[in-house]
Amino acid sequence: MSKIKVMDENLANKIAAGEVVEKCASIVKELVENSVDAHATEVNIFLREGGIKEISVIDNGLGMDEEDALMAFQRHATSKLYKDDDLFFIDTLGFRGEALPSIASVSLVTLKTSFHECGTYLEIEGGVLRKKENADARQGTIITIQNLFYNTPARLKYLKSEQSELQNCVSFVEKFALAHPEVSFTLQNDDRILVKTSGSGSLHKVIHEIYGLQVSSKMLEIKNSNDDFDLFGYVCKPEILKSNRNHMTVIVNGRVIRNQEINRAINEAYYTYKPDIKYPIVVLRIDTDPTLIDVNIHPTKQDIKITKMDILYDLLLQTIKDVLYQNLLIPDAVLRMPTFNPIKNEVLDSVIAESNDEILPSFQSTFDFQDNSNEKEEETTVVINPEMKKLMLYPVGLAHGTYIIAENEEGVYLIDQHAAQERINYEKNMNALRNKNITTTTLLLPITIELSQSEFLKVQAKEEHLKELGFGLEEFGINTFVFKSHPTWLSEGYEEESIRRILDLIIGGLDNFDPVKFNEKIAITLACKMSIKANMHISHEAQEELLNELCVCDNPYNCPHGRPTIIKFSIYDLERMFKRAMN
Ligand code: ZN
Ligand code: ZN
Repeated sequence: MSKIKVMDENLANKIAAGEVVEKCASIVKELVENSVDAHATEVNIFLREGGIKEISVIDNGLGMDEEDALMAFQRHATSKLYKDDDLFFIDTLGFRGEALPSIASVSLVTLKTSFHECGTYLEIEGGVLRKKENADARQGTIITIQNLFYNTPARLKYLKSEQSELQNCVSFVEKFALAHPEVSFTLQNDDRILVKTSGSGSLHKVIHEIYGLQVSSKMLEIKNSNDDFDLFGYVCKPEILKSNRNHMTVIVNGRVIRNQEINRAINEAYYTYKPDIKYPIVVLRIDTDPTLIDVNIHPTKQDIKITKMDILYDLLLQTIKDVLYQNLLIPDAVLRMPTFNPIKNEVLDSVIAESNDEILPSFQSTFDFQDNSNEKEEETTVVINPEMKKLMLYPVGLAHGTYIIAENEEGVYLIDQHAAQERINYEKNMNALRNKNITTTTLLLPITIELSQSEFLKVQAKEEHLKELGFGLEEFGINTFVFKSHPTWLSEGYEEESIRRILDLIIGGLDNFDPVKFNEKIAITLACKMSIKANMHISHEAQEELLNELCVCDNPYNCPHGRPTIIKFSIYDLERMFKRAMN
């Protein structure tokens, strides 16, 4: 290949650079992917000023010979570097072939690489080959990008602040490291090491290296498969939720991807375990037949489309739900081992703005409770609340008319009385709603409810469903329904209010009606309504009864909105806090 050809293509590269090089992280992504494609087991990334000044990647991969090295900077080059059978190879967009020449056209690139005994050194400035020399034959590749956009100042202003570019790079490298536990990664910015993984091959260890002990000790392993998908990974216990979605890492066939449906399935699985505004830490590996994957949209985005999504959705939902259910625990008031994680708090938790995947309201989702197409392995035994079943709690008082203080031999507990009763009522309601033999109560005074025209039509469309639930309703004049009976489980004295709330759920609901979800919403809404509020001084007997009922709940640890119902101070924690125990 000749210098002249490179120059001819330069303009096209500069234009393309605007599309592929959006931020420093997209350069890091390209270089690091090349390293891993070249079978590197160690990849070290060095940034200066968040990558704006310099990005340098050093790997111990296979390297390139002189011809390949030159080809890599040629537009539409297809070198050995890019595998045709790679399922994410985007042939029509030619992205993998274009990224390096594009980057080179707007920066100063130096490359030192070797293949067998042949070492090559290249210097390319603004897309023009300035220097080509022989170099030593050290294994691997060192590539450095400097002065990004020096020749296209208009582009330079599209880069974000140093801090924001850095956050994106850190976030990318962390996720990439999670996708490649067998490769050791280091990311250093100026003098600080921000990411360091050992390449041990263990996903749990990478989670530990990235998130620290406090998180890694609270991750639950998930594993499941059916004819089309193999799932493996870790999901966090509901006690360590994050306030943004950036910690849900999904890896499909080895690539970090983004897919709203998968995120929705994960969130759905945490339904009633977490508040809507909190998000779990999840690292999920999905392996599947490449023909079920469709890379769509822009190549620098990681969105993909999956055929048979409904099957994957159900598999994910059920697998995560099961593992959360089997691991229900009372959150400790005192986190035993607070570890200092220098990177996390400062840099990463503010990346929220960067994640733009939207999670739709859970009400809209559709799933069914029909038999799971995948057979469960025989040895999985479901243990139900071993911790709670043996728990005997004795109330010793009520604080602020809100928190029941209770004790047993193991420690002291605080119980949120509203949240606890909400849980109890929610489970009662759910059981009643699931019951096929509905008993109904006839109202002595029928309840008439007048609606607007549009509201009336919405309720009319769901009339059958309401009848199935045990509501005896009839149309009565203009835009009016009369209720003559209701299912017995509605709490006495709250009949009209309960009916109105159920109608509100129908009126405010979305178009694709899901009866299962709808019933769950009813159960939650009425449970909240029926429960004692905070600031109500309930009697000692009432406290006792509440605790007894809570202990037999299916999930006694969260209210249906995902807030905790009970918090534990173990004797050990108390002794430590009062310095009675010294370790
Ligand atoms: Zn409530
Ligand atoms: Zn609640």
